[in-house]
Amino acid sequence: MSKKTKAKQTSKKDKRDVRRQERRFVSQAATNPTIVSGAGALSALLLGAGLWAYFYAKSFAEDDQLKAVPSYLIAAGAVIMGITIWIGTSSESPIRVGAPGIAVEKGELRRMAWWAVEKIRFEAGALALVITGKDEASSDWTFKVPVKAHPEAVAWIVKEAQDRIPRRVDIDDDLLEKLPAAHEHVGQRVDLEPLQVVGKKCAVTGKTISYEPDARVCPQCERVYVKTSVPKKCRCGNSLVHLRPKSLQGFDDAEEVADDEEDDERVSASDERTSTETKAAEETAES
Ligand SMILES: [Zn+2]
Repeated sequence: MSKKTKAKQTSKKDKRDVRRQERRFVSQAATNPTIVSGAGALSALLLGAGLWAYFYAKSFAEDDQLKAVPSYLIAAGAVIMGITIWIGTSSESPIRVGAPGIAVEKGELRRMAWWAVEKIRFEAGALALVITGKDEASSDWTFKVPVKAHPEAVAWIVKEAQDRIPRRVDIDDDLLEKLPAAHEHVGQRVDLEPLQVVGKKCAVTGKTISYEPDARVCPQCERVYVKTSVPKKCRCGNSLVHLRPKSLQGFDDAEEVADDEEDDERVSASDERTSTETKAAEETAES
């Protein structure tokens, strides 16, 4: 591509779109590696000793009380080996976090766009982020990202979600402080193509985009709009004024979406109120 065409394209699109990227995180085995190799060595030792006693140590076979010892050794060795394999391998799939949302790599990529995220909360019992929303096929989807196997992915999901969809993050401030911090140089950076808008539905009109230049994308949550229906403000809270065509400027056709968003704010505000009220009630009950 010549420099000229590239420059022309980038000037048309939003800055964030140009650097459309995500980070890929491979899970870490949750157990300390020293414990894993120690358990592995122990199981090998027990199995070896058991087999040796079974085949070569005559005194075990002759003594009634010691007869069972080799089988016990072998059984214990086998059990510990099983445990070693279990704790030494992490079954958590790789996680991707970036402009297109959050994705889980389980065979193929299942992704939840930021705009499709309903709620991100933290489950203290499981020590995991719980993400609820819809996947790209619009199916309901809830998945967990455990801190132990995915500390870096958890950090980046929280960071990006706070930047992009702050109202969907339902985690207490004091808990947020305890979660891992998002470091710049973690994960594997993956460069992405611009969002494929053809076939996506406009968030206001529901119309399917059939011609790419007709679409406008919110750079924060990647909600797609038909250019003539771009509201002043996206439901994620981002201002879209710069994406509205000149013909729409000063012309208010976007009241519907703005109202939606106020509804949304009202709902979440009342949610918050209820939860504080419950908490206060609980505290009174306790004392
Ligand atoms: Zn948005």
